[in-house]
Amino acid sequence: MKRRILIVGGGFAGLWTALGAARVVDLQGDARSTVEITLVSPRPELHIRPRLHEAHPEQMAVPFLPLLNAVDVNFVEGTVERIHRADRCVDVTTATGETQSVGYDRLVLTSGSRLFRPPLPGLADHAFAVDQLNEAVALREHLESLASKPDTAARNTFVVVGGGFTGLEVATELPQRLRAILGETVRPRIVVVERADAIGPDLGPGPRPEIIEALDHLGIETRVGAGVVSLDATGVVTASGERIDADTVIWTGGMVASGLTAQVSPNVDRQGRMEVAADLRVTGANDIFGAGDVVRALTDDEAHYSLMSCQHAQFMGRFAGHNVAADLLGLPTIEYRQPFYATCLDLGVWGAVYTEGWDRQVKLTRKEGKERKMLINTQWIYPPAADREQALAAGNPYLS
Ligand SMILES: Cc1cc2nc3c(=O)[nH]c(=O)nc-3n(C[C@H](O)[C@H](O)[C@H](O)COP(=O)(O)OP(=O)(O)OC[C@H]3O[C@@H](n4cnc5c(N)ncnc54)[C@H](O)[C@@H]3O)c2cc1C
Repeated sequence: MKRRILIVGGGFAGLWTALGAARVVDLQGDARSTVEITLVSPRPELHIRPRLHEAHPEQMAVPFLPLLNAVDVNFVEGTVERIHRADRCVDVTTATGETQSVGYDRLVLTSGSRLFRPPLPGLADHAFAVDQLNEAVALREHLESLASKPDTAARNTFVVVGGGFTGLEVATELPQRLRAILGETVRPRIVVVERADAIGPDLGPGPRPEIIEALDHLGIETRVGAGVVSLDATGVVTASGERIDADTVIWTGGMVASGLTAQVSPNVDRQGRMEVAADLRVTGANDIFGAGDVVRALTDDEAHYSLMSCQHAQFMGRFAGHNVAADLLGLPTIEYRQPFYATCLDLGVWGAVYTEGWDRQVKLTRKEGKERKMLINTQWIYPPAADREQALAAGNPYLS
C-alpha cells in the first residue's frame, strides 16, 4: 500500500506545500511509486485574497488542477470537517453534502484564516467584507447597485471599520472604484474607523507618514481611538458616541486561524495559530505539520515570528512540503528560516509604500511603490505554470 501525505487547504501555503512535497518525492526517484500526495480543498482554485478589494474579485480565482496533475498530486474537492488523529483520517464533506473518510500517514494543515467577527450588535447582518471571494463579490454587487439609488449623503458615505493593512487597502481603492460607478461629479465620503490610537497600528511608525499623506491626498477621513460598537441598516455608532450614517459599512477587523487548528493542537496563540517546531511539525503531534496562517513559526534567530501573509505562507509551504515528504521517507527534515521580511501597502491612485525589515524602513513610495506592488500582486504570488520541471523547481525551499 502507498504511504499517504494529505494536505488540507489549497491556499498559498497548501499549494506550495504540494510542490515542496512533490519535489522531494521526485528527487528520490523510486519514491514516486510508493508515496501518494493528496490535497483537499473546497474548490480546485487558488483565491488571491490580497486582491479581493479590487474592482473585479471574481477574476481572483486561479484554477490549479493542471498544476497538481503536472506534479502527480491528487485532488479531493471538499471541506474537512473533522480530523481523527488517533485513526489518522479526516472526514471530508463534498459539495453535494456527502461525507467521505480520507486516510493519511502524514498530514499538513494549511487551512488558512478567516475574518475575525466579534459579537457586535448588527455586525453579522449589516457589514460587507473582502475576506473571502464570495464576500468580495457581494460587496462589488452592492457598490454597483448604488448607482441606481437616490443621491443621498448615506448612499455616498462608506465606513471602513479597521485601519490596518486590509482596511487601508480597501479604503484607498474606493475613490477610483466609486468614480467608475457613481460618476465624476459625486464626491464620496470615506471614513476609516480605527480602535487603536493611530492608523495602521500593526504597521508601526515607519510607513505612517506616507499612509497619512495618501489618505489626505485621497480625501479619506479617519477616526482613531474609538472603534465601532454597533451597526444597523443605516450606519454605525463608535465608542465615542459618534453616529455615521452610511449605506455601506465594510468590516476588516483582523484575521483568526481556521478552526481546524483546535482539533490538532491545544497550544494556540490568541489568533488560534498552532505552535510548531523548527521543521514546522506541530508541537505534540508527530505526524502533523502546519504552514501559513494556521501556524506561528519562528522565522529567524532574532525572535521574529511568521505573520498571516502570503510571503510567509508560500515560503513555509515549501518547507512544510519538503519536511513532510522527507519525514515519511526517513530523510532528515530541515529548519524553516525566512529572515527577509518586507511589506507593500497599496494606497490607491496615490501609489504604494514598500518597506523592508521588521522595523519597516520605507524603501519605495508612490509610483515606485506601486510598481513593486504590481510585481508582487500579478506575478510573485501566482502559482507557476503547469509544467512539471518549473513546478517542481518552485517547490524548492531554498528558492529565494
Ligand atoms: C483582503 C486581504 C488582503 C490581504 N493582503 C495581503 C497582502 O497584501 N500581502 C500579504 O502577504 N498577505 C495579504 N493578505 C493575507 C494573505 O491573503 C494570507 O496570509 C494568505 O492567504 C495565507 O495563506 P494560507 O494558505 O495560509 O491561507 P488561505 O489563503 O486562506 O488558504 C486556505 C485554504 O484552505 C481552504 N480551507 C479552509 N478550511 C478548509 C477545510 N476545513 N477543509 C479544506 N480546505 C479548507 C480554503 O478554502 C483555502 O483554499 C491579505 C488577506 C486579505 C483577506
